[in-house]
Amino acid sequence: MSDSKNGLLGLGSHGPAVADVRTRLVALRGSGLPELEHLAEDGVDAQQFDAGLERAVRAFQQHKGLIVDGVVGVETFAAIDGARWSLGDRILLHTPGHLQRGEDVVALQERLNTLGFGAGRVDGRFGAATERAVRAFQRAYGLSGDGSVGPETLRAFDDLKRSVSGGSATVLRERERVRRSGHNLSGRTVVLDPGHGAANPGATAHGLVEAEVVMDLARRIEGRLTAIGVSVVYTRTEHTSPSEEERAALANAAGADVVLSLHCDSHDAADASGVATFFFGRDRKTSWSAVGEHLADLVQREIVARTDLANCRSHGRSWTLLQQTTMPAVRIEAGYLSHPADASRLASPAFRDTLAEAVLVSLQRLYLGDDDTATTGVLRLGDLRAYLAAHG
Ligand SMILES: [Zn+2]
Repeated sequence: MSDSKNGLLGLGSHGPAVADVRTRLVALRGSGLPELEHLAEDGVDAQQFDAGLERAVRAFQQHKGLIVDGVVGVETFAAIDGARWSLGDRILLHTPGHLQRGEDVVALQERLNTLGFGAGRVDGRFGAATERAVRAFQRAYGLSGDGSVGPETLRAFDDLKRSVSGGSATVLRERERVRRSGHNLSGRTVVLDPGHGAANPGATAHGLVEAEVVMDLARRIEGRLTAIGVSVVYTRTEHTSPSEEERAALANAAGADVVLSLHCDSHDAADASGVATFFFGRDRKTSWSAVGEHLADLVQREIVARTDLANCRSHGRSWTLLQQTTMPAVRIEAGYLSHPADASRLASPAFRDTLAEAVLVSLQRLYLGDDDTATTGVLRLGDLRAYLAAHG
């Protein structure tokens, strides 16, 4: 096989290109491929594509999920070339027309996916989807969000890695990263997603209509948000009922910092009652929003502390809106309309105000990084502003 005619190197090829492949594979010793340890450098013609080199190429192809033919073509060469990069060796960024490839990109994509920032298929190519996921990650952690992966972004990953391996996932410390982005909610964008809509009212019971209750709740949250300088984007009006996909797309297009989806529950079992909060989480290792989980815990905590709704806790789910949004998103199921006591609570404007206040404080806590559980449920927004004035 000729090493110059069509760019393919295989058994019998000879020349400097073969020596180059051999050198590159030898350099990958210690990377977990035992076959490479036996690849000879001494006592062989380095420029000769011999049986030993072919064995090493096949083992490498097997390891990388390439077609195992023992021939070094464009794909295999790119994989050998990319294998030398570890995350942090170079700055990664999207360069259309000449995509960066390598093991460092694989590691990056795996980390993004693990954290719930969908980088798509782990293919080791820094394409548009990977760049979008990097930007979403950077925004969520208060970084500049330029889409390139340099020292600052890598430090954020390292901090997270420590926090993830350091203990329970429910006490993740990545909010310290969020905290460094500033204590204030002011200047941020929150998407309010009142569930259901005109064509699809959701649960109806005890004279209450879910679509109306959650829109009213959204208005009360909006009033508090806009008062402290937060931009609010709604996923629907009183007259529309967009799909979950449309709501997620709108939140992504708005570049929101957080999505709050508001629902009430309903159940045939008359004694079902209480509040639950959901975040994106399907598999803790690969599909999990750590910030979403933290926000869900905060929301749940604040609501339970301020009301007498039963605590149905926070849970990871892969529902469309939670999965397709690129920023932390939580869905609050605030009480059961089918439960007489929950329904009578939800009918009260004062109760809805309390819910809105709880949501606001949990958002502020997310950015405050405050873990002082002693004040849960008693802290009012005024107290938080005083705290910020003293510590900001
Ligand atoms: Zn609903």
